[in-house]
Amino acid sequence: MSATSDHAVVEAREDAVGPAPSAPEGLDGLGELCVLMKLGEIVLKGSNRHLFERRLHNNIRAAAKGLPELKISQRKGIIMLRLPGASDLEVAELAERMCNVMGIVWVHLVRRVAKDLDTITDVAVRSMAERTGTFAVRARRRDKRFPLISSELAAHVGSAVKKAHPHLDVKLKNPDNTVSIEVDKDEAFVFTDGMPGQGGLPVGMSGRALVLMSGGIDSPVAAHRMMRRGLKVDFLHFSGMPFTGPESIYKAYSLVRQLDRFQGGSRLFVVPFGKAQQQIKNSGVERLQIVAQRRLMLKTAEVLADRLGGAALITGDALGQVSSQTLTNITALDDAVDLPILRPLVGMDKTEIMDQARRIGTLAISELPDEDCCTLLTPRQVETAAKIADLRQIEKRLDAEELADYLAGTAQLHKPSYFGGPESMPAGA
Ligand code: ATP
Ligand code: MG
Repeated sequence: MSATSDHAVVEAREDAVGPAPSAPEGLDGLGELCVLMKLGEIVLKGSNRHLFERRLHNNIRAAAKGLPELKISQRKGIIMLRLPGASDLEVAELAERMCNVMGIVWVHLVRRVAKDLDTITDVAVRSMAERTGTFAVRARRRDKRFPLISSELAAHVGSAVKKAHPHLDVKLKNPDNTVSIEVDKDEAFVFTDGMPGQGGLPVGMSGRALVLMSGGIDSPVAAHRMMRRGLKVDFLHFSGMPFTGPESIYKAYSLVRQLDRFQGGSRLFVVPFGKAQQQIKNSGVERLQIVAQRRLMLKTAEVLADRLGGAALITGDALGQVSSQTLTNITALDDAVDLPILRPLVGMDKTEIMDQARRIGTLAISELPDEDCCTLLTPRQVETAAKIADLRQIEKRLDAEELADYLAGTAQLHKPSYFGGPESMPAGA
């Protein structure tokens, strides 16, 4: 059997090269440790692709804050990051941070080596030194002038790995280890593992929106989903203060801090909502209490979004999940504001939402006990088919527009930052 069919997995795509990077200097030994990233949807963009790339580069630089100076090189569908003079630990830290930057599909820690068959083979062989089980070599050639085609390169390296590490067996389908080799115009990359990125579009590409953020499971997931579609988001939390303790604010703060690693510069606005809830109750709403509260939250959010330049509101509503989320009630909520309300979880099951919350690191925080403002003053029976005319009548009595204006004015700003060091929790919450 030929070595080619044994060892090679040839990737069909042999892309044209983008702008040439500078020729590698001093690449000896194991080469330079760098971060190679694969882009997803951005590659499909047409004439405005450079705008997406520029935004992504800015977001990458922001996420790399505090690390040594970064060199970004963009080629078609991939970005290469170098930290000249940095330690391997710092490069690994950079790779980890890149897993949270929206718009990137795969993140690889790679060895950047001279474009020479012996060097590539040597580094590939050494990269498998500690490994056990099965392996495959995958080669890709972006530079067609390289003397070996991809299948020949994979076969050559595969034979050398097997010879140096006889305990490793070749397995082309689902191997335990994969050695990847990418030959570019002026250098080659050798790597063994990859970490999945977030995918989606760079944050900020789609504009700005305001998330209504409870301390629950759903709203953080909704926020993540919309950041992933390129929205930069601000957060608004309503606490039951002065009738509840500050726990829900601590939770909202921790949740926003956790989500901040996907966008940076997050702002959390907190509005004490207890007295307004009491006012709604005193106006005799009974079964409409919850929907009337939610409408007032949305109206307040709209005032704040206008001030912040937000073009939409985001909630964690899922159809039928709780009584305020029947189709009739969702329609009644939409009627409260002019801004569009984005509900990215509307068709998701609770278990799917919880899986997602676990993946983005918010589930454990959301599950901490607190006293949510919505559970204050909950009527014994909640209306599942609220009539818009009734709600508007109640709001006329309350002067809801003015109340929303007033509430937006009471919002306290916090800046929970994931990388910005230990900022104290909200004071006097
Ligand atoms: P979550 O799990 O996000 O807390 P929930 O299951 O509590 O949602 P509801 O109370 O009906 O469901 O809230 C639906 C949506 O309304 C939330 O996802 C959030 O966007 C918004 N919301 C509810 N309570 C608050 C609050 N205290 N502050 C800000 N937004 C809120
Ligand atoms: Mg919910």
